[in-house]
Amino acid sequence: MLTFGCQMNELDSELALASMAEGGFANTGSAADADVILVNTCSVRDKAEQKAYSFLGRAARLKKHRPGVVIAVLGCMAQKEGELIFKRAPYVDIVAGTRQFTRINELVRRVRENKERVLSLGRDDEVVSAKRLRVRDVRHSLQVAVMRGCDHHCTFCVVPNTRGVEASKPFEEVVKECEILVGSGAVEITLLGQNIDSYGKRLNPRRSLAELLHAVGAIQGLQRLRFITSHPADLKPELFRAFREVPKLMPYLHFPAQSGSDRILRAMRRGYTYDEYLKLVDAAREACPEIGLAGDTIVGFPTESDQDFERTLELHRRAEYQNAFIFTYSHREFTPADKMDLKDDVPEDVKLARCNALLDLQRDVSEKVLSKYVGRVVKVLGDRPSKRSPASRVASPESSVSDDGSDPRPVTRDTRRFEGRSPQNILVHVDSGRDLKGKLYDARITRSSPFALYGELV
Ligand code: SF4
Repeated sequence: MLTFGCQMNELDSELALASMAEGGFANTGSAADADVILVNTCSVRDKAEQKAYSFLGRAARLKKHRPGVVIAVLGCMAQKEGELIFKRAPYVDIVAGTRQFTRINELVRRVRENKERVLSLGRDDEVVSAKRLRVRDVRHSLQVAVMRGCDHHCTFCVVPNTRGVEASKPFEEVVKECEILVGSGAVEITLLGQNIDSYGKRLNPRRSLAELLHAVGAIQGLQRLRFITSHPADLKPELFRAFREVPKLMPYLHFPAQSGSDRILRAMRRGYTYDEYLKLVDAAREACPEIGLAGDTIVGFPTESDQDFERTLELHRRAEYQNAFIFTYSHREFTPADKMDLKDDVPEDVKLARCNALLDLQRDVSEKVLSKYVGRVVKVLGDRPSKRSPASRVASPESSVSDDGSDPRPVTRDTRRFEGRSPQNILVHVDSGRDLKGKLYDARITRSSPFALYGELV
């Protein structure tokens, strides 16, 4: 199984694997040995789709030698492209959308028994967790999807088209899933949703994210709780109070602004202004002075002028993000911008120049924010031996995920140095010489870079 895209996709892949396990299949971890090749796809950027097609090309060559291999394309690109995938990649057997993950085993059986192709794009799948738990490899830090879909219609975004309207997982089910994971050894849980501030809107009785944070935060044995991703138009003051009232809730808030220009924010249909966004920044810092803020920004949105871009630079200076995910605008089919025929009119070289200028500025801002930790002792949750290669600077929009699952570069790890996360979700490296995975420890910070802190065990 190969997964492209965000953390939500990683979780959906677990559902697909759980479904396959019901049919007696085990995960081989390598396409070359597999009888069924599952590709869970992403549509947020054109590049992610190109990578999926390029992988499918490689899978087709495998199928030439072993014609019985079943190839299935799942998730966002499947939902968006539908039948087109069969035209472009005729060797694909299954195209299944974003709410079909629990049915994959049944779809594979249909292909094998009837020797037919299957297109399955219905939105009938529940936001389920019980099946996933059966195949879940319990680690110390886990994510739990609490909702799917999005009711917003940001003009650049394909998510409402691929994932449908917001649907929340029942409150008690989320709490139960978290209890099971903590009982199995997880010490940190991150609640995931495309627009997590809307959690519970359609539940009966209606529930809120703040209530959920209180309930999950009360689970015995859980050490750390996080949530992503917030929408500035939906953030409620009671959520900021949760940072004070729920001791296990870590002081980290990822809430993408996307632009600093009111004109562009209106064109993006984001539902807030520059001033309103900064009021939230100030309110978050007032409620929780140690909070770490992260943002996402798109540069080169249609009609963006130098003045608009100046406002974006100003927003990054003023918000003092500890980290930000920065992208150039990529026109996507089936987005509101596409339907409105909004011309992608900012030249690529201008987009690139603005992107680099913003990355440089953000690098300075991050350096300043992270340098404040030098000399302090921070509590770290150990994760794994540190990477030898430098950290990536760019990730995917609104998902807070930096890895699309397809980076071919091998990652080598340094066995003497261990990496973990501070309460603000900042990467912290310590020279340890031992395994600190899943352990909470104090690190005295001796130096910083724009991307990480470095220290020694206390
Ligand atoms: S950018 Fe986020 S809030 Fe806007 S439509 Fe996409 S998923 Fe929803």
